[in-house]
Amino acid sequence: MIEPRPFQICSRCILDTKDYPEIIFDEQGVCNICHTFDDLKRRTVFSGEEGKLKLELLQAELQNSRKNNIYDCVLAVSGGADSLYLAHLCKAWGLNPIVLHIDNGWNSELSVKNIENVIRHLGFDLYTYVIDWQELRDLQLAYFKAGVVDLDIPSENALMAAFYLTAKKFKVKHILTGHNTMTEGWLPPNFVSQYKLDTRNLRAIQKQFGTIKLKKYPSIGFVRHFYNSRIKGIKFINPLNLIDYRKEEAKKLLEKDYGWRDYGSKHFENIFTRFYQGYILPVKFGVDKRKSHYSTLICSGQMKREEALELVKHPPYHDQQLMEEDQRFLLKKLGMSEDDFAVFMKQPIRSHDDFPSYLHLYRSLRPVIKLVRKFVPSGSQKDKSNK
Ligand SMILES: [Zn+2]
Repeated sequence: MIEPRPFQICSRCILDTKDYPEIIFDEQGVCNICHTFDDLKRRTVFSGEEGKLKLELLQAELQNSRKNNIYDCVLAVSGGADSLYLAHLCKAWGLNPIVLHIDNGWNSELSVKNIENVIRHLGFDLYTYVIDWQELRDLQLAYFKAGVVDLDIPSENALMAAFYLTAKKFKVKHILTGHNTMTEGWLPPNFVSQYKLDTRNLRAIQKQFGTIKLKKYPSIGFVRHFYNSRIKGIKFINPLNLIDYRKEEAKKLLEKDYGWRDYGSKHFENIFTRFYQGYILPVKFGVDKRKSHYSTLICSGQMKREEALELVKHPPYHDQQLMEEDQRFLLKKLGMSEDDFAVFMKQPIRSHDDFPSYLHLYRSLRPVIKLVRKFVPSGSQKDKSNK
């Protein structure tokens, strides 16, 4: 029998052996995720003169790419501070993005209002991509019934597909996002789903548990992602990595200049994500995403370790009434009864691997794929960090 690992917590961040069993510590007790963060920071974050130079090159590249087009890039906004602050910067940099907002049916009223306020004020064109709600709903319910952990895949895959479809529609090659290493960093592998682009897995789950055929749902798999990024040269760019980005200062500016309002914790501009991360993930799957998020903030010097340790002692929902409201909203919108939800919370957890998957194939073909990647240079600057 394998001896259980003695409990140990990182001396720098707040990740531990309980949350992340594969965690490794160095002689100072600092974990491998902290080292991965430092490495990612070295590769993706540029401040001072170096950042300024890279930013100038980026601005020139975007303006050159405009040619006969009125837009030079797609700017994806969620309603949160990062992407809307980036919209503010785009104006200052003389760019003219087509601003993309994706309506997946779950955005809070506040996030939509935030987007409208900021974008109208800046005078940019706003394009809303609406994902067919009936199909998304059926797919989300299929993921609930399957008992797999990543219930956000139906939305996230469609989001990625919509990014590329919008870039093609407006004939631009650059997609700007508010993603940034300093606040989003790097998640431990067990917090990250490897199945975001696994359309074989998605179709298998839909086939077994869905009730309708997906006709309008925009999905994207590994091959089309590869084609768009490497062959068509559509790039994801994260400009907040090129400035000394401070989220709290960005929030203050947005509040003061645009009447933007805070929605609380990360990704809580979306009610599904709020309830999923705040209740379903910790209660059913034992995953507290705040731990990796706060750890990133500690590593980037934006949060004190003691503060993070104190915060995670309390459940993610500090407002019981809000939690109940969100649950009622989610069940009503999905058309799920309270009894069905109670069954879901108790049913056994299943791995995404229990269903057919491209990853099975990918694992066996990994050496060949590595070779192809070597000879087809990347068109994407997007690092592999996760939301
Ligand atoms: Zn650590």
